Amino acid sequence: MVVRMRKNRSQTAKRRSNHAISGQRLAKCECGAARMTHRACPQCGKYNGKVVIDVVAEASRTARRQKRKLTELRASGQTDETKEKETTQTK
Ligand SMILES: [Zn+2]
Repeated sequence: MVVRMRKNRSQTAKRRSNHAISGQRLAKCECGAARMTHRACPQCGKYNGKVVIDVVAEASRTARRQKRKLTELRASGQTDETKEKETTQTK
């Protein structure tokens, strides 16, 4: 190996610092779902026994946003349906 190709100690240490990283630790929520530690449960919205996320409101909000996005796409004429038609026509 030529000296030019050799990496310095800093670069080697930076690469090796990732060797010890293990997989994500999952904890079991009181609702029974697996959740990440130090994070609120995405299923029931609880953290440390208290409800911190209104799950129902969150779901309705995401549904509303998706609907709005779809209507905007339709208004601009860039729907998925038109894309599908274009692909079928080219074939
Ligand atoms: Zn939960």
